[in-house]
Amino acid sequence: MSDFLLPSLRGLAPYVPGEQPREGVSVKLNTNESPFPPSPRVVAALTGGEAGRLNLYSDPTALPLREAIAEEYGLSPQNVFCGNGSDEVLGFAFLAFSDESHPITFPAVSYGFYPVFARLFRATFRTVALNDDFTLPVEPFLNAGGMVAFANPNAPTGISLPLAEVKRIAHGNRAHVVLVDEAYVDFGGQSALALLSECPNLLIVRTFSKSRSLAGARLGYAMAHEAIIEDLERVRNSFHPYNVNRLSMLAGVEAMKDRPYFEACVAAIVRTREETAAELRGLGFHMTPSDANFLFAAHPAHTALEYERALRARGVLIRRWNDPALREHARVSIGSKEQMQRFLLETREILRERNML
Ligand code: PMP
Repeated sequence: MSDFLLPSLRGLAPYVPGEQPREGVSVKLNTNESPFPPSPRVVAALTGGEAGRLNLYSDPTALPLREAIAEEYGLSPQNVFCGNGSDEVLGFAFLAFSDESHPITFPAVSYGFYPVFARLFRATFRTVALNDDFTLPVEPFLNAGGMVAFANPNAPTGISLPLAEVKRIAHGNRAHVVLVDEAYVDFGGQSALALLSECPNLLIVRTFSKSRSLAGARLGYAMAHEAIIEDLERVRNSFHPYNVNRLSMLAGVEAMKDRPYFEACVAAIVRTREETAAELRGLGFHMTPSDANFLFAAHPAHTALEYERALRARGVLIRRWNDPALREHARVSIGSKEQMQRFLLETREILRERNML
């Protein structure tokens, strides 16, 4: 740390992204990426000639991408906002709707970036503890007195909140923005999109990183009433008007238009998730019911730390946390059928070595 950094930033604990190893890992199940490559339409479009136009700035309104998203979800481009990953969209939303005197409420166990954004932007925040079974209690989110944010399905549990409960939260905070982070919704949750027409305070945030196989392109988007989108645009244009680059824009448009490929990838991941969950249960693991592209699993006979280390030694990466509330569980992203077979094989070996099988 230099002597120049602001005192207010010295204590900041940044978000720690999952490891992106260069080599030595044969099965990477630690960051919820899709195991499938982007749609062939994306790959074809990227060889088209757009690279030769990188001397020119990208469209600062991201209109082609907003149009493609709007068409897919039956909205108008005025209801769509695009960002450099949904992390950036979330950041703009926190910046636009929360500060010292406008607190934000989110679950104590959820996406680890929420408290980081709140601290960076100096927003007052309140966290709500989950129930013992990791479900979200709705009552503490009603009349929260400021913006509310939660992931649905939640991370890292994969548990989704029924639409009726999302509706209660949206209606229970009419004077404030209710942000629903739907990063994983395509894998089984119920989207709040159905509530958009009746809820002018709803802000739905999505990503291309998981179900659309574009984590490396960094694309996220938000859907909301026009006024909220205008607010986000005000912040974005005060910070980074060219936040979606030309190549990613093109990739996003093609990925959004290739519905059959998207549906096939999601179906394969859901199928593999259920098969993997059944196998893990047979090996003595406990799991939350996941509607996402990962499993949140605990084994009674060893800690997540031991399990993660043992898997790592065998070339399989998963994710775990030091947070006491999460310490027993490890999060395993759902990869391809072959990757999950290898993961299960190594898991069986680890249990066997410890005489647990
Ligand atoms: N929201 C949740 C709940 C996530 O787990 C993630 C992935 N780390 C994100 C948002 C951000 O994803 P991205 O920036 O890749 O769109």
